[in-house]
Amino acid sequence: MAKIVILTGAGISAESGIRTFRASDGLWEEHRIEDVATPEGFEHDPDLVHRFYNARRAAAMAATPNPAHEALAELEADPGHDLLVVTQNVDDLHERAGSQNVLHMHGSLFGALCHACEHRWPAPEVMAPSDPCPSCGRAATRPDIVWFGEMPYRMEEIWHSLRAADLFVSIGTSGNVYPAAGFVADAMHAGVPTLELNLEPSAGSRMFDEARQGPASVLVPEWVRERLGG
Ligand code: NAD
Repeated sequence: MAKIVILTGAGISAESGIRTFRASDGLWEEHRIEDVATPEGFEHDPDLVHRFYNARRAAAMAATPNPAHEALAELEADPGHDLLVVTQNVDDLHERAGSQNVLHMHGSLFGALCHACEHRWPAPEVMAPSDPCPSCGRAATRPDIVWFGEMPYRMEEIWHSLRAADLFVSIGTSGNVYPAAGFVADAMHAGVPTLELNLEPSAGSRMFDEARQGPASVLVPEWVRERLGG
């Protein structure tokens, strides 16, 4: 059974109509990252941050998985493969394509988090700063998203899986955001072969054993067909 750890980023969802991140000069959907994706930004203007993620949630709900998400779900269903998808994405397109073993290292648009008591619950479609936490009752609701300066989720588990993998594949990620950008070096040090599938060479492209360039909707199904021997 081949153990494969897949890292995905915003690029895999681009052809589903969800815009990537740094494509436009450090702006995310016309907003400065500092304003909408940091704890300081949230403290400064929680209304703006909630409005921003409410819009991202609506866009994710309106989007549908593309052939790249579907191909990964098909590979996971194959009995010869043991797949873990580690995604930096906060959308749910992997799950909606049928992937089951998905780890959201940067959180999810569909989770809510109380920053007073750390209780978590499913996010309503529209969130506001005045929403009370269902556990402690305080108006301290935030999206369960990992912002810049915060520690991504389940890192020990990711590193453990990475070191035990037979292959590491990075798909649609710019290689600018750590610690995910360091996974290729971690895999390399553990002697795990590495493959990059991205529209253009990423910041760390040269570290991969192999790097293929093109749209994820073409490259990922092609690679999955190779794995499945078709
Ligand atoms: P990024 O936006 O920094 O980089 C995207 C990469 O994908 C680029 O290298 C680009 O060349 C490549 N790309 C673009 N279109 C592609 C396509 N059709 N096929 C293959 N590759 C394509 O994204 P990142 O590295 O994931 O880092 C951004 C951060 O922003 C993440 O932490 C994530 O949480 C957040 N984010 C998430 C979403 C989402 O959930 N869909 C969208 C935007 C940003």
